[in-house]
Amino acid sequence: MCGIVGYIGNRKASEVLIKGLKRLEYRGYDSAGIALCNNNSCQIYKCKGKVQDLEKLLQDKNAEGSIGIGHTRWATHGEPNDVNAHPHTSMRGNFIIIHNGIIENYSKLKAGLEEEGYVFKGETDTEVLANLFEYVYLNHLNNGDKISPEDIIRETLQMVEGAYGLVILCNDYPDFMIAARKGSPLVIGIGKDEYFVASDATPIIEYTNSVIYLNDDDIAIISRSSLNLTNLKNMKKKPDIQKIDLKIDEIEKGGFDHYMLKEIYEQPRAIRDTCRGRLDFRSKSIHLGGLHNIFDKLAGAKRIIIVACGTSWHAGLVGEYLFEEFARIPTEVEYASEFRYRNPIINKDDIVIAISQSGETADTLAAVQMAKNAGAIVIGICNVVGASIPRETIAGVYTHAGPEIGVASTKAFTAQITVLTMMAMAVGLANKGLTEKEFSQLVDELYIIPEKIEEILERSECIRDISEKIKDVSNSIYLGRGYLYPVALEGALKLKEISYIHAEGYPAAEMKHGPIALIDEKMPVIVIATKDNSYDKIVSNIQEVKARKGVIIAVVTEGDVTIKSIADYVIEVPKTDFALAPLLTVIPLQLLSYYIATMRGCNVDQPRNLAKSVTVE
Ligand code: GLU
Repeated sequence: MCGIVGYIGNRKASEVLIKGLKRLEYRGYDSAGIALCNNNSCQIYKCKGKVQDLEKLLQDKNAEGSIGIGHTRWATHGEPNDVNAHPHTSMRGNFIIIHNGIIENYSKLKAGLEEEGYVFKGETDTEVLANLFEYVYLNHLNNGDKISPEDIIRETLQMVEGAYGLVILCNDYPDFMIAARKGSPLVIGIGKDEYFVASDATPIIEYTNSVIYLNDDDIAIISRSSLNLTNLKNMKKKPDIQKIDLKIDEIEKGGFDHYMLKEIYEQPRAIRDTCRGRLDFRSKSIHLGGLHNIFDKLAGAKRIIIVACGTSWHAGLVGEYLFEEFARIPTEVEYASEFRYRNPIINKDDIVIAISQSGETADTLAAVQMAKNAGAIVIGICNVVGASIPRETIAGVYTHAGPEIGVASTKAFTAQITVLTMMAMAVGLANKGLTEKEFSQLVDELYIIPEKIEEILERSECIRDISEKIKDVSNSIYLGRGYLYPVALEGALKLKEISYIHAEGYPAAEMKHGPIALIDEKMPVIVIATKDNSYDKIVSNIQEVKARKGVIIAVVTEGDVTIKSIADYVIEVPKTDFALAPLLTVIPLQLLSYYIATMRGCNVDQPRNLAKSVTVE
């Protein structure tokens, strides 16, 4: 789930590891550690807290070695403390490992090892794995078997259920590092007489742009001068070396106080990049190359099922409205975690669209597998090139939002909606749900959305002032109707994620069925109420809140007078087509959450308990 860095070469490993772990901090974590190997002896440094704390720990130590592994842990088994932090060493010191993911049968394995005399220092599933490697290894050694470390790893991993991205050091083979993957991403960077391993490419790109993405069941044996790739079945594999096009300044803060703010401000660029080469303003057309091979099937689909989690699920909800309105195709939006475990009905001619910023979200990936097994056509919408979901799907469209470092998603969300809008428009035109005139008006509108977002960003001062007024509340409600209902959900999620204020999003009309009981003069109600076909209805909802003394903050269309006369605060956004309003109205809500959270002193880029890429279910 969290960060992995490994290095083998001729540099000072501690520097590569610490720098790499800092690059991975955005993923959210609670402890950090490294193991450094020098002249056949390995030292481990680890602690609860941040990479900075680990650096302090290293300050007066002789942190030598040109082989090492580093980890930022997001606790799943056992509390975040020094002992449970990775790397973990096996009881007799033969194996040192770092691990992302969850070993699901760990308690059974642990009980077995305890019977064999193993004693555990902490509570993690990872320590069980380290000891299991050692147990298998020593058994073979005692029997006089000649067996390579790679075979030990292979044999041990056959006994394991769950997900792992692993980097393993074996004391008896000090010139090797072993990487293994199942369900949790790993990428290997290739340098000259050096290799890097990481859970994503960000720690690697300043050294090399040649990488190999490991597939599930892959095992890589890495020395300074060679890389040997096999899989769990001991089949030799030819490494697929790819060039990545990711620049260092794309993953740095660029003058902003936080990644999240930088990413909010990057949205006009992210949407332009996502549309580039796809949305042709002059010829009024849309080309989605990644859907070419299945486009007719998509246009003729009887049903679309969108699977996603979190913010991507909210984008999916906007997608439902778009596909049903533009293309008249019945569309369902499912939480991937529910979908995969409830025996859903999937027909062969269903189209399943999986949305995930990272392309590694464990539940979404499992839903993709399930839909594939049922014979459906599965399309991916992802931001990270080469991630698991794009590799597992036969068609898809990348969002070109650029690396999203802030844990709370902003630009990936608007880029996902942009892709869904283009998809629904293209399908709508093809199956005549949209007339050519409607289609070309939408092309024109979508084309100028980035400029309109720029206008909203210029008004951030007014949003900051409103934030100041409500920053101390404990609860809040977000309301919207139609296309603006998913925006209400997303606005509420943003606020709770980074400011820890309790926030609920509702379809505005649902308020009367319960939440209205909560409204009093202390309750801010954020209403997304731009001009659309339910405008009059939402004005009535605002009146209902006002009648109960709620504090209204309304996001309205420029020039609105009706709501202005009722609301306590208004934030204006430019006019656009109803269907494109989510792309504009979510921007002030992102800013509102950002300002409130920073005013409350919260760590907006790494909110407590959250991880960027949820690679465990
Ligand atoms: N399950 C492991 C632990 O709790 C790994 C967690 C992670 O992915 O960071 O230590």
